[in-house]
Amino acid sequence: MPETLELYNTMSRRLERFSPLEEGHARLYTCGPTVYDFAHIGNLRTFLFEDVLRRTLQHFGLRVTQVMNLTDIDDKTIRGAAREGISLREYTDRYVEAFFADVDTLRVERAEHYPRATDYIPQMVELVQRLEARGHTYRSEGSIYFRISTFPGYGRLSGVSLEGNLAGARVDADEYEKEDARDFVLWKGSREGEPSWDTPLGPGRPGWHLECSAMSMALLGETFDLHTGGVDNVFPHHENEIAQSEGATGKPFVRTWLHAEHLFVEGEKMAKSKGNFFTLRDLLEQGHDPLAIRYLLISVPYRQKLNFTFDSLHGATQAVERVGNTLRRLRHSPAATGAGDLSTEDVSSFRTELERALGDDLNTARALAALHGLLRQVNTALDGNGISGAIRAELDLALADVDRTLDVAPRDEAAPQDEDGEVQRLVEERTAARAARDFARADQIRQRLGELGVVVEDTPHGPVWRRR
Ligand SMILES: [Zn+2]
Repeated sequence: MPETLELYNTMSRRLERFSPLEEGHARLYTCGPTVYDFAHIGNLRTFLFEDVLRRTLQHFGLRVTQVMNLTDIDDKTIRGAAREGISLREYTDRYVEAFFADVDTLRVERAEHYPRATDYIPQMVELVQRLEARGHTYRSEGSIYFRISTFPGYGRLSGVSLEGNLAGARVDADEYEKEDARDFVLWKGSREGEPSWDTPLGPGRPGWHLECSAMSMALLGETFDLHTGGVDNVFPHHENEIAQSEGATGKPFVRTWLHAEHLFVEGEKMAKSKGNFFTLRDLLEQGHDPLAIRYLLISVPYRQKLNFTFDSLHGATQAVERVGNTLRRLRHSPAATGAGDLSTEDVSSFRTELERALGDDLNTARALAALHGLLRQVNTALDGNGISGAIRAELDLALADVDRTLDVAPRDEAAPQDEDGEVQRLVEERTAARAARDFARADQIRQRLGELGVVVEDTPHGPVWRRR
């Protein structure tokens, strides 16, 4: 591992060299979706940032244990299920399934664990009991609250100050507004029309913040390496998670906090009322390529705001096509007989640059620029004296690095092997016809290839074909 991985820690407000608590093993908690609706592209940007993080950790030689929770109980899921007159599980199952379909479409690698909040009620109860034993809670009307004034570190992550912010006032809501630091609910006493669990705490249901503390510590331990989310999770959600977890254990909860910035659409905040609110399926229905969507959503480094525009989506579509065309051209070009025009240094300096870019707080813009630089060199070489067999083997390794980290190369699903074989056979037949000076036959074949959507170029080292 020659390059180092540096990540910006929201807690320290600095870039820090990442090294996991346990040698060779990174433990990562990523706040997941509330499964009451389809994820929008802002949510998906955060999930893609976490995907690049996960892949980068692996690229730097670490085994990753990632947990992403599925919030299947909160005000929104309860309301949705009630509206349709079905069970909470039935209602949330639909959106859990949609969530997995979306992330699979965008090539997001699966996490090791996807705990559902309703499967971790005993762990949540135990956490509240520990907080009660340490004097961090009070009860009121069947609910249990966290008393913020008992946790002096409150506000360190977000920089929110308690003074004048109603510390000591309590708030019952799940759907938090961001203005106030107030005592927050850990356990909500049961109410008419809401699901409720009979527990030693009394009947009721968990608060949203409690879910993440309980599930992360149950699966990753009381102290772990990385915790991520969108910037709007910093306060109060992550601040409350820290208070609950450290209040209960007396140990540091998380070492590095990472947060993805907001996504705008055509320069504006996304809102259903403005008609600029998009889910993945909205974009797919409009005919956009999921790979171009992945490309666009990772093209801006995660700590910068991303302005999603249809112009930029068009640009991403072209960028992905450029990648695909060059790779296809490469695949169908014979190896150079001589040294060729691409060198070992060209390939190795690309690999170093890719690693440096990712190690630079996941600088995906820099990594993609490096990829396009390499592909330009490949095209230039194929226009000239070609690429030798030895360098191509090195190039394949470099391209495998790209697939493992950025994963933006089209897969040739539209051109199955047998069809490629047919094209290859026609190209060879055409070459033979030209060699025999049978130009009428050569033209006939070129026409047939054109019908198959294939363009043939004659280069100094033989014909090269690509799909239009
Ligand atoms: Zn969370």
